[in-house]
This record gives sequence, C-alpha cells and structure tokens, in this order.
Amino acid sequence: MNTKEVTAKQILSRSKVFAYALNPYIGCSYGCTYCYARFMRRFTGHGDKWGEFVDVKVNASELLEKEIRLKKVARVWVSGVCDPYQPVEGRCRLTRRCLEILTENGWPVTVQTKSPLVLRDLDLLKRSESAEVGLTVTTADDAVRSMFEPRAPSVGDRINALATLHSEGVKTFAMIAPILPGADGLAEMLTGKVDHVLIDRMNYHHADRIYRKYGVEWARSEGFFIRQGRDLRRAFEGEGIPCEILF
Ligand code: SF4
Repeated sequence: MNTKEVTAKQILSRSKVFAYALNPYIGCSYGCTYCYARFMRRFTGHGDKWGEFVDVKVNASELLEKEIRLKKVARVWVSGVCDPYQPVEGRCRLTRRCLEILTENGWPVTVQTKSPLVLRDLDLLKRSESAEVGLTVTTADDAVRSMFEPRAPSVGDRINALATLHSEGVKTFAMIAPILPGADGLAEMLTGKVDHVLIDRMNYHHADRIYRKYGVEWARSEGFFIRQGRDLRRAFEGEGIPCEILF
C-alpha cells in the first residue's frame, strides 16, 4: 500500500447527497471491485491502481476548524469517495478528530462505512443528537462479499457494528448498494439493528468491468436490480423498517 501524507487546500466539499462531504483520505485501501470513487485516481493524478494508494490529509482538522466558521451549519457526509474508517484511520485518527470538531460545534453528521472501527468513536457519536451511521452491506453471503469486496470487513462484522450502535442509541441505517446476489436474508439479519434502509444498484460503468472480469451476467441486467430491490423492500417493510430504493 502506497501511503503518503498530503496537505489539502479544502476539506468540506459541496455534495449532491448532503450539503457537504468530508473525505479525510484520498483513495481507499478496501479497493472494492465496483467502487464508483475510482475516478479519484485520474482526478488526483495517481498512477497506482485503485485500492493501492491512500493519501492522508494531515491538515484535515485544521482546515475544518477554519471552514466551519465561514459556513452555515449543515449536514456533513463522512465520507463519500473514501471509507472514513479504512485501516489507516486506526493509526491516523483524522476521521475521529474531524467528528469531534463537527459534533462539538453542533454540525449534523452522516457517517458511512464498511468498517467496525467506527465503534471506536461511539463516545462521540452518542454525544451528538443528530449523528447517524450507515454500514454498507451489499449481500448476506460472505462468499459473495469476498468476491467483490475482498479487503473489506465481513458481513457479520458490519451487522454486529450496526447492532452495537443501535443498542447504544445511535441512529443507524444500512446502505445496500450495490445489491449483490445473496441479499435475500438481509431483512431478517438487520431487524432491530437499523432505523431505515437504502437500496441502490450497480453503477453500470463498473458493472461492465466486473462482467468482463468475472463473467457475472446479472451485473448488466436491469431486471436483476429491479426484482431484487422490490423483493428486499417488501421484506424490510414486512419487518416494519422503512426502506427506500434509490434507482
Ligand atoms: S469501501 Fe467504499 S470507497 Fe472504499 S473501495 Fe469500497 S466502495 Fe470504494
């Protein structure tokens, strides 16, 4: 893994999902095969493959202290184009420091990750009335997970993290995106652990890459996502969990 320290010019960026996104790192060592954020490679001039580099924005918290003084309070998505709790965060603690600043200053935060390392920051998340945490869970089948997300935490570890957060009173959601095969049991597995669920499909550009690499025909099929999405939504609603399909 090529990890280096960089100095960023800005830390809060405008986002279509929430008012702002905050990415403490450039790159993501999980390197999921379908990752839509791999465009960051070109954007930041990296020659390494996606998943093989991480730039650590060492001045993230200093920038954030300054930027929140100049902006109106609004929800911040942590992160968007990297996983804020990828392994390097265990040592660098940039996400934690940024969360501290945001929550101490009353900024609402939506954390999205695949990592149970988020539990390290349970103290901060519990102190914020408006924080919510989403774990991305794409399938109930860990063999499928290991095919598409070989370096990311297991399905069970993610669901256990949601269970702990939820039982500690933190608002939680599951991001089932992209839906992969073997997602059928997720409604039962997530009941009592999430407040709501979001479902999205594979990004077609990367679906084509995966199709060529693994010969996975369903990734090109509109029908797969529509059928899976509807079935899952029905299952979640049957458990009394609000569920939104995003495509
Ligand atoms: S964890 Fe998210 S940001 Fe990181 S490689 Fe996987 S999909 Fe991309």
